[in-house]
Amino acid sequence: SMENTQHIVIIGGGITGLSTAFYLFKSAEEQQLPIRITLLEAKSRIGGKIRTELFQGFVMEKGPDSFLERKISAKQLAIDLGIEDQLVRNQTGQAYILHQSRLHPIPEGSVMGVPTRLSPFISTRLFSPVGKMRAALDLLLPRQTLDKDVSVGSFFRHRLGNDVVDHLIEPLLSGIYGGNLDQLSLKATFPQFAQMEEKYRSLILAMKKSRSTNLPGKPKGQFLTLKNGLYAFVEAIEKKLPSNTIHRNSVVKAIEKTDKNYQIQLENGKPLTADAVIVTTPYPTLTQMLPSIDLPKPPNHTPATTVATVILGFDDQTEVETPYEGTGFVVPRTENTTITACTWTHKKWPHTTPDGKVLLRFYIGRPGNAAIVAESDSSILEHVQKDMAKVMNIRKQPSFYRITRWREANPQYTVGHTEWVKQLEVHLNSNLPGLFLAGAPYRGVGIPDCIDQGKRAVQEVLQFLNL
Ligand code: FAD
Repeated sequence: SMENTQHIVIIGGGITGLSTAFYLFKSAEEQQLPIRITLLEAKSRIGGKIRTELFQGFVMEKGPDSFLERKISAKQLAIDLGIEDQLVRNQTGQAYILHQSRLHPIPEGSVMGVPTRLSPFISTRLFSPVGKMRAALDLLLPRQTLDKDVSVGSFFRHRLGNDVVDHLIEPLLSGIYGGNLDQLSLKATFPQFAQMEEKYRSLILAMKKSRSTNLPGKPKGQFLTLKNGLYAFVEAIEKKLPSNTIHRNSVVKAIEKTDKNYQIQLENGKPLTADAVIVTTPYPTLTQMLPSIDLPKPPNHTPATTVATVILGFDDQTEVETPYEGTGFVVPRTENTTITACTWTHKKWPHTTPDGKVLLRFYIGRPGNAAIVAESDSSILEHVQKDMAKVMNIRKQPSFYRITRWREANPQYTVGHTEWVKQLEVHLNSNLPGLFLAGAPYRGVGIPDCIDQGKRAVQEVLQFLNL
């Protein structure tokens, strides 16, 4: 009966909140569970960081543009939503690093910057001869005894030296975390490297071993997206949910614990009563919603990184000439450019661009250097075009552009992060039973990580409600 119906409130309508709602609803249907779900989203649009724009035959991603196939839950979500026919895989092609104002191919056989083959490393001009010899020391150096978390930077600097870290590993990895490598937690981001060292001692040997077990054949792309953009996930989920589930323009101000349940205070409108709550907002918002709870402080607290994506569209391939064949490039901090990465989107994702046209996407903004993102569109465009001119020949102004500013958008997993997340959950468990956390601030920022956390929250809530 309605009397026994449990009300579950999900706060935040990004991919975490949406996939939580979807899998909760799916379980409820399959197991005839007496639950009702409300999802509260502050803005007039749902999707959070997922923002696709379809324009004149272009598919433009202003936030995330794809996800790793290897982390299965995003592909699985497409299957569970019945939209797997829309999955598209990226084209493979050479990726580059900007070094001394020229593009250098990423040495063949490097996996996240760790060499697995010798000759491409010996011939690359990305590192000095001394830097190469220092990297080879990895083959001889003993294990580090890591009884506690360390930074990704210090781990790799110890094994491979500064040259390889600053010119290859940093630009490759900070593309994913947008963070400062020397503060980034190894345990929270790439625990597999610590495990490799423990098992094989040398990273180069470990990577060689794992590579040789890969199947032979033509390399295939590691990323997937959806034909009409990632926003198709958002639309498909909304369609599956009962029509009164998602409430837009619903800013949650506070979550208050009462004897039996929770009161959710909104900026506008009547409070809601909830039997369980799942919070998927950025972390600073969580602390605002729980003013009287003294949450454990995050380690070396660094605000989430501010970045912007800059998209340029050209009508004709002859207007932009690149002497390099490939999918794009990343830029180390040492280069002093505004752009930190560039994707030749029309090459990496041909379905996004009408034939013969060009779509480019750049990132700007680094940790501790967000000022550029606050500049005007025209100033940003000028900086981007100046950097572009180093490696491409631009004959005409782009026919359109999009600049999307992402303020404090990429959570920073600093050293000690994993321990903090555990403490936070233990603390909430004893002070606010029935309130659960999921999303990018905690157990991974990638879309598949967010979906995994949503599924985990579903299990936790159902267990809490004895369902
Ligand atoms: P969000 O998307 O931030 O959603 C949180 C929601 O909570 C928002 O909609 C917000 O409005 C709402 N909210 C906030 N406060 C309140 C409140 N008080 N009341 C109600 N609602 C509130 N990942 C990949 O896997 N691949 C990529 O290619 C990739 N590229 C990226 C590019 C950029 C520019 C960025 C910023 C991120 C990228 N990521 C990528 C990471 C990934 O997109 C995000 O980690 C993920 O989308 C976050 O989802 P979320 O639901 O946890 O949070």
